[in-house]
Amino acid sequence: MKNSHHDIVIIGGGIIGGAIAYYCAKAGLDITVLEKNELASGTSSRCDGNILAIDKDPGFDSQMSLVSQRLVHELNRELDMSFEYRNPGSILVCESELEMEAAQQWVNRQQEAGLDFTMLDREDLRNESKYFADDLYGGLECKTDSTVNPYMLTFSMFHSAEKLGAKIKKHTEVKNIKKQPDDTFSLETNEGWITANKVINACGIWAPFIGQMLSVDIPIKPRKGHILVASRQEPVGLRKVMEFGYLISKFGGERKVDADIEKYGVALVFEPTEAQNFLIGSSREFVGFDTKVNHDVAKMIARRAVRFYPKIADMSIIRTYAGLRPWTEDHLPIICEVEEVPGFYIAAGHEGDGISLAAVTGKLIQELLQHKDSCIPTEPVHLSRFQKGVLHE
Ligand SMILES: Cc1cc2nc3c(=O)[nH]c(=O)nc-3n(C[C@H](O)[C@H](O)[C@H](O)COP(=O)(O)OP(=O)(O)OC[C@H]3O[C@@H](n4cnc5c(N)ncnc54)[C@H](O)[C@@H]3O)c2cc1C
Repeated sequence: MKNSHHDIVIIGGGIIGGAIAYYCAKAGLDITVLEKNELASGTSSRCDGNILAIDKDPGFDSQMSLVSQRLVHELNRELDMSFEYRNPGSILVCESELEMEAAQQWVNRQQEAGLDFTMLDREDLRNESKYFADDLYGGLECKTDSTVNPYMLTFSMFHSAEKLGAKIKKHTEVKNIKKQPDDTFSLETNEGWITANKVINACGIWAPFIGQMLSVDIPIKPRKGHILVASRQEPVGLRKVMEFGYLISKFGGERKVDADIEKYGVALVFEPTEAQNFLIGSSREFVGFDTKVNHDVAKMIARRAVRFYPKIADMSIIRTYAGLRPWTEDHLPIICEVEEVPGFYIAAGHEGDGISLAAVTGKLIQELLQHKDSCIPTEPVHLSRFQKGVLHE
């Protein structure tokens, strides 16, 4: 690898790097991936696996998610390795009359935008799961939502990319990058120097460090989240459930909950896996790069889950983990070529939506590299929105 020249280098072997590698290799591009640890060793193995439109703002945000949902549906047929894909839809549940009114408005806005959303009443919830608390008012459903095993999808995309000719270098850390007078890039790694025509920064929460190497400011911060894994006992539910307050927590609004629940941004997220274990989340905090499990937060998540599913109180938790979402101020990713450094691309900052948006991100980067029409508008995800102060609302 030392002193070798490459056409396109992707830095980062998470789900975003995987999707870019797959779509670019499929389009015939010459791809080399550099990953400092193992594939999917970052946030992409410390998360849930939901591919959602239910929690997306109607408009650009939800349209981008729908494009990605369609692409993942196709990936399920295209890729060799299966990744536990299912698309049973998902639901949000409400615990007050006020939330039901807000849910109705959310459904109206989504339906106006052409999405498949419907309201659910108490009876619908009872039919959904006998484990739900009796006092829940109802909720809403998005029928297109799907779920995957996130690290299996990551491995699956890299596996197919490699078969299509992509070269994947694990345990290869990029330590510095320099732009050369001939417009190529020179990259210093623990395996020596290499050169490349184009460089794609798919480093999630570490993307700002790669940006600094080329004097590009990338405004991404790690936002911690915890997940509890409960063991397979009885099928508590067959699809993804979130409390309506999750939307408020995600977008930074005020909720009527205990101060601690609010402080750690705890809101119920319930996800059955293919093996019928279930994942219970989650929390949202800015505490730097610390991925240690905070047992007080884990207890709060369990308490919140029992509020919505009282009968799971006796079930066993088999593991708890925490991951760091790559957060941006307007909750949209950064996917673009950097104007000031031609040939340098960013694909990072997907916060809690990187699994949902990996496919559309990979496709878009391939289209940008090949100067093709893009599958989504590019302006809302351009880095320059932060410099111009025109953030998506
Ligand atoms: C608790 C939790 C729940 C979540 N649930 C969902 C969900 O249900 N649905 C959803 O859509 N999203 C979810 N997410 C968000 C999702 O996990 C992330 O958005 C996504 O994994 C980000 O992927 P990535 O490839 O950008 O980053 P990563 O997976 O972190 O990959 C970046 C890679 O870059 C490598 N790297 C960094 N620096 C260098 C370097 N200098 N040289 C070489 N390699 C380098 C790292 O080792 C890492 O492997 C959740 C996140 C959390 C924390």
